[in-house]
This record gives sequence, structure tokens and C-alpha cells, in this order.
Amino acid sequence: MKKYPVKSEFELKKLILEIGKRLWTRGFVAANDGNISVRTRKNEILITPSGVSKGFMSKDMIISMTMDGDIVSSNNQYRPSSEYKMHAQVYRSRDDINAVVHAHPPYSTAFAVAGIPLDKCALPEAILTLGSVPVAHYGTPSTNEVPDSINEHIKKSDAILLANHGALTAGIDLMTAYHRMETLEHVAHIMYLAHSLGNVNILSKEQIGQLMEVRSRMNIPGRINIPLSGD
Ligand code: 13P
Ligand code: ZN
Repeated sequence: MKKYPVKSEFELKKLILEIGKRLWTRGFVAANDGNISVRTRKNEILITPSGVSKGFMSKDMIISMTMDGDIVSSNNQYRPSSEYKMHAQVYRSRDDINAVVHAHPPYSTAFAVAGIPLDKCALPEAILTLGSVPVAHYGTPSTNEVPDSINEHIKKSDAILLANHGALTAGIDLMTAYHRMETLEHVAHIMYLAHSLGNVNILSKEQIGQLMEVRSRMNIPGRINIPLSGD
């Protein structure tokens, strides 16, 4: 039988508010950027409202909706995130994913603007939790172009850079999806600094293989796409 989050809707809403606060506090979103969702049933999600600061939400602002866009419950003052179709695309493609976080963290977004994937095997935590992070081609925010652009990537990866826009991470639950966003931004920041120092040492194929063994021993859930670009 398929497992969906064991937490109550009340607890899930609280967690969404907490993650919104962390995204804003860490500077991963400005103004009304970003959105967060969690799957509650096969075809239903809780999602953040559109056009509000995700650092200052209250529980009554969170909307319950189907993945086809029908509202299940809301306080009628807010519309669901303009990117709900991108979230729905992730859930439709991946049975193992129950939460999605989208933000515009500066270093990750800088790589997305530059069109540079985070595909260098340089940091163990990147290999253990993110794998190779691709850049999905640009799509106009809020349109079907965005879900279309991530379609192929999400089958292989739990973290995606959105060209000239931001980043998306997904996970088995809300905290896993959020922590992947933190790791993604941390890795992007370090890679930016290492590039500016003038040298990036890449791990060897053997070292990457050892990390993959650690990963399977730790039973880390999710999908990672490891490039064969070791030293
Ligand atoms: P929403 O406020 O509609 O979720 O949009 C924020 C965003 O980041 C759009 O890409
Ligand atoms: Zn966005």
C-alpha cells in the first residue's frame, strides 16, 4: 500500500510555515518568491499561497488542492502558488516524492543564470545527497513551460536548477526536500568560491565509487545522477 505523510494536516501546515521562515531567513527567497508543497493523497497536495512572503505565512493561508488545479479547501483570500503545475509534474513523475520546495537562492540561481550545471564530483555531501544537478531549460514562470522543462530531469534527479529562474528540490518528506535546498545552495556557494580561487580538484572515480557504497549502506532515499566525470 502506498505511504503518504503520517503527519496530520495541522502538523504539515506548521512544517510548511517553518520551512517558509527558514527559506526567507537564509535569503533563499526575496519578496514573494518561492513555494512549498506536500502530498497528502495520491492526487492532492497542500501548497503555499501565491504572491505572499513565504517567511510570514499563517496556517489559514495554506491551500489544499488537487493536482488538476481544483481547490479542496482554502480561506478564499489567496490563490494557490502560480507554480502548482510544476509541483504536480514532480508528484506525477515520481511515486517516491511527497514534498517539493522551490526557491531562488543566490548562488544556485547564479549557476542557473550562467547555465552551468553542478556536475563536478568535488564534495562528498553533494554526491551523497544531490548527485549531478542539471540545468532545466528556461520556461516562463507560472506557465506549462516550467513543468515541461523539468520533465526529463526529475526522473533522474531530486535537485534541478531552473535556467534564469531558481532551483527546485524534492524529497520523501518536507524536511528532506528543504534540506536538499540548503545543501544545494551550500554546494553552489562553495563551488563558486573554489572557482574564484582558481582551482577545483575533482574526486577520483574510485573515491566516487566509495561514496556510492556509503550511500547505499546509509539507505539514503531518492535518485541521484552521478556523472562519470571523476578525475
Ligand atoms: P508564487 O508566489 O505564485 O508561488 O510564485 C513565486 C515564484 O517563485 C514563481 O516562480
Ligand atoms: Zn520562482
